Amino acid sequence: MTMREQEVGVFDFVLLDEITLEKFMQNLKKRYQAGKIYTYIGEVAVSVNPYRSLNIYANEFITKYKGRELFENPPHIYAVADAAYRVLRQQNKNTCIMISGESGAGKTEASKIIMKYIAAVTNAHSQNDIERVKNVLIQSNTILETFGNAKTNRNDNSSRFGKYMDIEFDFKHDPVGGIITNFLLEKSRIVKQQPGERSFHCFYQLLRGSNDAELRQYELSRDPSNYHYTNQGSTETLSEKNDYKATALAFKAFGFSVEEINCVWRTIAAILHLGNVNFGAEDDEIIVKNKSQTKTLAKMLMVTENELSTALTQRVIAAHGDIMKKSHDQVQAEFGRDALAKAIYDRLFTWIVERINKAIEVPNKNLQKRFNRVIGVLDIYGFEIFDNNSFEQFCINYCNEKLQQLFIELEQQEYQREGIEWTNVEYFNNQIICDLVEAPHKGIIAITDEACLTVGKVNDEMLLEAMDQKLAHHKHFSSRQLKPMDKELKHKVDFRITHYAGDVIYSIIGFIDKNKDTLFQDFKRLLYNSKDKILSSMWPEGAQDITKTTKRPLTAGTIFQKSMSDLVATLLSKEPFYVRCIKPNDIKSPTMFDDVRIEHQVRYLGLLENVRVRRAGFVHRQRYDKFLLRYKMLSQYTWPNFRGGSDKDGVRVLLEEKRLINDCKFGHTKVFIRSPRTLFQLERERNEMIPN
Ligand code: ADP
Ligand code: MG
Repeated sequence: MTMREQEVGVFDFVLLDEITLEKFMQNLKKRYQAGKIYTYIGEVAVSVNPYRSLNIYANEFITKYKGRELFENPPHIYAVADAAYRVLRQQNKNTCIMISGESGAGKTEASKIIMKYIAAVTNAHSQNDIERVKNVLIQSNTILETFGNAKTNRNDNSSRFGKYMDIEFDFKHDPVGGIITNFLLEKSRIVKQQPGERSFHCFYQLLRGSNDAELRQYELSRDPSNYHYTNQGSTETLSEKNDYKATALAFKAFGFSVEEINCVWRTIAAILHLGNVNFGAEDDEIIVKNKSQTKTLAKMLMVTENELSTALTQRVIAAHGDIMKKSHDQVQAEFGRDALAKAIYDRLFTWIVERINKAIEVPNKNLQKRFNRVIGVLDIYGFEIFDNNSFEQFCINYCNEKLQQLFIELEQQEYQREGIEWTNVEYFNNQIICDLVEAPHKGIIAITDEACLTVGKVNDEMLLEAMDQKLAHHKHFSSRQLKPMDKELKHKVDFRITHYAGDVIYSIIGFIDKNKDTLFQDFKRLLYNSKDKILSSMWPEGAQDITKTTKRPLTAGTIFQKSMSDLVATLLSKEPFYVRCIKPNDIKSPTMFDDVRIEHQVRYLGLLENVRVRRAGFVHRQRYDKFLLRYKMLSQYTWPNFRGGSDKDGVRVLLEEKRLINDCKFGHTKVFIRSPRTLFQLERERNEMIPN
């Protein structure tokens, strides 16, 4: 180890002499304490949230990283963004940058930094079109955060949805448009918040940031504690007044019409009013207790009061061609109300995303569309392990299994492309865990779907029993039933999945309801009949005839599985880059390195697996021309230029002279280096020749 490495650690984890958790942590800590928040694993950037403004993003840094190889500068997210953009430009390939990490680790900040970088390095002095795209790409965050982010105990501005964004480029490699895909919005937050947490920012922005006239128009009062859907957790004020203005400006920037903006805020108001609807019994019938509430709500949704109260208290069912009315009981009525609130919000959010997409899509007049290349940016939840893990964590963790699988798949592809054998690989292939979740008929999603489709009462416990039966022999699944003596499985309803990154205990409670995600057809019809054309357009299936609506909607699990396989297919076709974000502590401190919390994340981000896969046989690979550029001064034959043949030959000669050749393999375009010692030696000799 050089003196410098003793102080600031190695800049790339593949250079660790041993890949152990302990060594990894030591290195990460050393770097963090030296103020270095970025470290590589090959081309993967590991980032530790600094929780303070670092002076490393200014324009001079953009200039420093522009067009440079990863190796040429200290690790930085700009280098990754630049690498992705360079591949797009030089090799005319689509690329993507996948950002993962737990809530508060800095994913969304990272995605914004990447967008800023790409905006800055692309053509600065050209048409308005490009300026437009750059602005909207950055502005889209404002709207998405207003409606998709919330204060949680981990992050005051936590994204409660997964986001994938393609930035599209034209043949001159300037950004011309974009398209955003959203995943799995955490809509349960609409009806219930944990202590200390809030609902989505938009509610507080509307209540606290709008002017008196607007507030009157929506028949609201300022105080969120007046509303059931905003008074269960925290009612803390953040920066709503300013944020409401920023949202308004962003709406303008995207060309939202007055009607559209009004529809959005009126719908938010409607959800607040809906939450205050209470039910009671009168002559054995369920009725809405607070009538004035339905009146206001009907006004906000632009539906008739009569239809609204009917939909809230009873449902129409078709059986054998007959149409019957069936009154709800109290529990059903409340369940229906909450399901309605969640569904309205979910549709509104999706509509907003689509509306943004319309504003940033590549204009028709751009005939170069077929030359388009994209950089995809994925900002998605990392592994989640809470005290109580339910269906949501199950989906999120499944998503991470898929991404890990993708990572392995893409690594293998690279080896194949280069004609190098994929051997000696001591890493874990997580296909078996993906199968556990998604296999037809015998995966957890299929078993849950089957339980949801069974006529009659199937409860969560019975679902777990079905899993026990079908998955008893699966190495990565266990439950209390299967392992009665297992102390970690505290409750009868617990089961464990051994994920690639470690064990997670889930509770089966809620799986059936959350997977079914039932919304009575009555509500769909109600909203379809709204006089508000925009709201109505969000509910096309409300047009269906009651006797024809026997087909069950897809379950939440199946929809999520489908969106994951689409995402994987999208990413698989692109050259990948990764940013792995780590949250150093839970108190947003700029100095505290919480070893326990970080170790946990290193494990669950699968970082050691990353290093192993990267080093699977080879710690390092580099294109021949780049390799020569970096090391040619080490050999008399290659300095100042190699004249005896191709770059590949040059690299061969250099490595031969250094007696390192036995440790290397020669791919079609890249040299692969097996042990870290070889790379150390090259780096050390290089450092001795050019002190920097
Ligand atoms: P995530 O999207 O992973 O939940 P965020 O990107 O919202 O997390 O980051 C949470 C907070 O951490 C941000 O609001 C910001 O205060 C801080 N933060 C994250 N990354 C950086 C960074 N690179 N520089 C400075 N502060 C950061
Ligand atoms: Mg985020």
